[in-house]
Amino acid sequence: MKNIRNFCIIAHIDHGKSTLADRLLEFTSTVAEREMQNQLLDNMDLERERGITIKSHAIQMNYNYKGEEYVLNLIDTPGHVDFSYEVSRSIAACEGALLIVDSSQGIEAQTISNLYLAIGNDLEIIPVLNKIDLPHAMPEEVSDQIIELIGCEKEDIIHASGKTGIGIEEILNAICDRIPAPKGDPEAPLQALIFDSVFNSYRGIEVYFRIFNGTLKKGEKVKFINTGKTYEADEIGVLKLNQEARQVMGAGNVGYLISGIKNAKEVKVGDTITHVDKPGESIQGFEDVKPMVFAGIYPVETSEYEELRASMEKLQLNDASLVWEPETSAALGFGFRCGFLGMLHMEIVQERLEREFDMTVITTVPSVQFHVHTTKGQLMKVSAPSEMPEPNYIDHVEEPFIKAQIISKSEFVGPIITLCMDKRGILKNQTYLTSDRVELTFEMPLAEIVFDFFDKLKTISRGYASLDYELIGFRQSNMVKLDVMLNGEPVDALSAIVHRDKAYDWGKRLCEKLRELLPRQMFEIAIQAAIGQKIIARETVKALRKNVLAKCYGGDISRKRKLLEKQKKGKKRMRQVGNVEIPQEAFLAVLKLD
Ligand code: GDP
Ligand code: MG
Repeated sequence: MKNIRNFCIIAHIDHGKSTLADRLLEFTSTVAEREMQNQLLDNMDLERERGITIKSHAIQMNYNYKGEEYVLNLIDTPGHVDFSYEVSRSIAACEGALLIVDSSQGIEAQTISNLYLAIGNDLEIIPVLNKIDLPHAMPEEVSDQIIELIGCEKEDIIHASGKTGIGIEEILNAICDRIPAPKGDPEAPLQALIFDSVFNSYRGIEVYFRIFNGTLKKGEKVKFINTGKTYEADEIGVLKLNQEARQVMGAGNVGYLISGIKNAKEVKVGDTITHVDKPGESIQGFEDVKPMVFAGIYPVETSEYEELRASMEKLQLNDASLVWEPETSAALGFGFRCGFLGMLHMEIVQERLEREFDMTVITTVPSVQFHVHTTKGQLMKVSAPSEMPEPNYIDHVEEPFIKAQIISKSEFVGPIITLCMDKRGILKNQTYLTSDRVELTFEMPLAEIVFDFFDKLKTISRGYASLDYELIGFRQSNMVKLDVMLNGEPVDALSAIVHRDKAYDWGKRLCEKLRELLPRQMFEIAIQAAIGQKIIARETVKALRKNVLAKCYGGDISRKRKLLEKQKKGKKRMRQVGNVEIPQEAFLAVLKLD
C-alpha cells in the first residue's frame, strides 16, 4: 500500500488534461503504441465528437521510480461547470491532484473552483504549467498567478507540454514523491466507496469503487450498506485500458466489481460496500446534487414510456447528477420532470438517451426552480410552469440567485458589466489578478445565466472570459407565468415563468419564433401568448396550399385523419398536440429569442 498513489487531474476546460493523461499512459507503457489514440480516456462517442470530457475516467498505471514499483491510479475529470459533480466524486477517491494550467491562458474560473474542491478534500496539489511549447506561452506571468493562488514555491511548479512530452517524467516522479500513500487498514472491516457505475447489458452493472479500509476477495459475500442488498463478488479487478481481474484487492486500491446486478436501482453512487460477515460502517458519501435547470423529458411515441423509464434508470447509474420524477402534461402525456446541472448537461442527457438507449425524446421548455409563497402561507417549490398556482393564490415568488465569478482580460470589463446588468445582475466586486486580468463578482438570478448567458459572454470577450457560479439563495422577484396557446388550446409544455418587466417582450418574440419553427400544415395555426386571461401577443402560421381541412369540417373524419397522417410521415422528434405538430426546436425556442 505504501507504493499506491491515487490522483486526479483537474483544470479549466481545454487546458490539456486529457492530452496530458495520454502522455502519462504512454510514458508508463500502460497503452501499447498501436492502441494509442488522442484523448484516449474520452471513450464515449459523444466525448470524442465534441472534444470534451463528460465523464471521469479511471485507469491504473505501473511506474518504476528509484528502484521501486509504484501503482498509480489516475482519474481524468471533466472541466465544464455542468460536470463539477463528477469532479467532486473523483476527488473523494484520491489523495492528490495535478492542477493543470494552460500557460498561454492563465488561471480561469474552473481552475479556481476545482482547486478549492481539491483543497477542501485535503488533496496534495501538484501545480503543472502546461502547453509550455506554445510560442505565446507566458510561463513567468502564469507562474506568478499560480503562486498567488495556492501559495506554493516557484520550484514546485512543473513546466510541461502534453503535446511534446516535456515534463512528463517529472510529473510522474512528483506523484510518487509528493502525493501521500493512501492510509487505511487492510485488516479492518471492509469499507469501499462506490464512485461510479455503468450498465453493461452482458455482464450486468459494473461498480467502480475505492477501498478505504479492509480487503476484498473474489467470491466473498458483500453488502451495499445504503440499499441493504447483498451479492457475491463474482469478479473484482483493476481498471487498466481494459479491466484486469484480480483475486484480492486491499485498502487504498481503486477497481471494479461485477456481481450480476441487473436492476439499476440497486446501485447508488456514494454507497459503501462492506462484507456480510464482519460489516464496517458506511463512509460519508457525496453531497446531494443541486440541479440548476429542470425540464420535462417525454417519449415521442407515448407507448415508449416504460422503456424510457428503464433507460433513464440505467443512464442514472452512469450519471449520478441526473435526477427525475414522473410528470404528466396535458399536452404530452406521461413523461419525467428532470433536474440538470446546466444546459450542456441537459443536451448530453438527451443525446445519451438517444444514442445509448435508442430512445427518441422531446425535452420541454427548461426552467429553474421557484419558491412560490401562497396567500395561505404555504411554500411551493415550482420547477415546471404548469405547477404554478393561479395568480390570486400567490402571495409572492422567490427565484434562485447565484454568485457568478467571471475572469477576463481587463479590456472586456465594460461590455461584461453591461451584459450582466442587462441580465439583472449586481456587481459586487472587482479584483485585478494581474495588471491585465480581472475577476468580477456578480449576484444574478440563476434564470438569466443558465440558458444562453455563457455563449454571449464568450462572444463579447472573444473567448477570453470564463465563468463559474454557485447558488447563494432565493430572493423575491416579480415573476409571472406566460402561457402559449395554439389554435386556442393552451399547450402546457410551452409555458414559461418569466420576469414581469420582460414578459411582454418575451411573449412577442416567442410568438414570432414559434411562427418560424412550427411547420406549416393544411390549416392555419394561431399562436397566442397570454398572461392569465390577457392575450399579449399573436402570430399566425399560414396554411399550406389551400385549406383542405376546412372543407372536411364536420364531414369526412377519416379523410381528415388521412391528410394529417400524410404529413406525419418521415418526421422525427415531433409531438402532436391537438391537431398541431410541434417539433423539438419549438420547445427550446425561448432560449433563442435574440
Ligand atoms: P481538456 O479539456 O483539459 O481535457 O483538454 P484536451 O486535452 O482535450 O486539450 C485541449 C486542446 O489543447 C486540444 O486541442 C489539444 O490538442 C491541445 N493541447 C493539449 N495539450 C497541449 C500542449 O501541451 N501543447 C499544445 N500546443 N497544445 C495542447
Ligand atoms: Mg478532457
